[in-house]
Amino acid sequence: MTAKILDGRHVSSTILDRVQKEVEEFVSDQGRVPVLATVLVGDDPASHTYVRMKANRCAKVGMESRRIELDATITTDELVEQIRQLSADRAVDGILLQHPVPDHIDERAAFEAIAPSKDVDGVTRTSFATMAFDEGGFESATPGGIMALLDAYDIPLAGKHAVVVGRSPILGKPVGMLLLARDATVTYCHSRTTGLADHIAQADILVAAVGRPELIRGEWLKPGAVVVDAGYADDKGDVEYDSAAARASYITPVPGGVGPMTIATLLSQTIRAAREHEATS
Ligand code: NAP
Repeated sequence: MTAKILDGRHVSSTILDRVQKEVEEFVSDQGRVPVLATVLVGDDPASHTYVRMKANRCAKVGMESRRIELDATITTDELVEQIRQLSADRAVDGILLQHPVPDHIDERAAFEAIAPSKDVDGVTRTSFATMAFDEGGFESATPGGIMALLDAYDIPLAGKHAVVVGRSPILGKPVGMLLLARDATVTYCHSRTTGLADHIAQADILVAAVGRPELIRGEWLKPGAVVVDAGYADDKGDVEYDSAAARASYITPVPGGVGPMTIATLLSQTIRAAREHEATS
């Protein structure tokens, strides 16, 4: 079997075309451009690249990105204060705190300074809870993007066994909850899991969200499995691509799979936040 590609670049460009039209309508109705504030702490080159990519995409769909770059030595209190100001700023529709932040910062405290109505990256406790209760809040952007990608290819989820490797609050945990909400049977694996290969062999759908290059071997997969590889480290995904593509029915490339879907979800949620702000002000 040779897997079909879950083409995140193609699917995300379709979503972004729709977002661009929605932005045009918003600008014509409201006489202003939606604004996404991106907050970047420190000099991590990868984080700078991610923020630049997001700003470029914002410009392409007609949104404004307001970039706030802060020194790596900033304290948690100072960062929280900056984010609170953005939360209170009526000109800002969405806020993204690029993570990871430097180790001395309390990342959770910084995330919680984002007003839930502007949490377009879906990182606050409020967003997590509304997602868990299926109450229509903002989804964590990468999990939301993964679900949109699976839906674009009509991958059936109900009754399927999904194995999620990784349990971070912004990726592994929420993607498992979104799969559960769609009636998949979900198993989580993590760094303390024993017999990882045996769990993966049971997966109809595998979501890898670890950040360890080629941790998962293609030979572990159930033939015909759907493989979503969100991991990215040293220019590689978490799954050995060639051997997995020979066994899976569908697979995401790395790059070009999950990454572009994350940005599409972020911008899709930003135009939604802008509309909701206007409706409630
Ligand atoms: P994270 O917070 O470091 O979480 C990594 C998870 O992997 C943890 O739950 C950890 O388990 C688990 N893990 C570590 N070693 C393992 C092992 N040997 N076997 C099984 N599980 C193991 O990372 P994250 O923020 O969720 O990101 C994960 C990956 O996704 C990274 O490569 C990141 O760059 C990528 N990512 C991509 C996008 C995108 O848009 N494409 C967005 C976000 C993240 P414990 O909980 O037990 O420690």
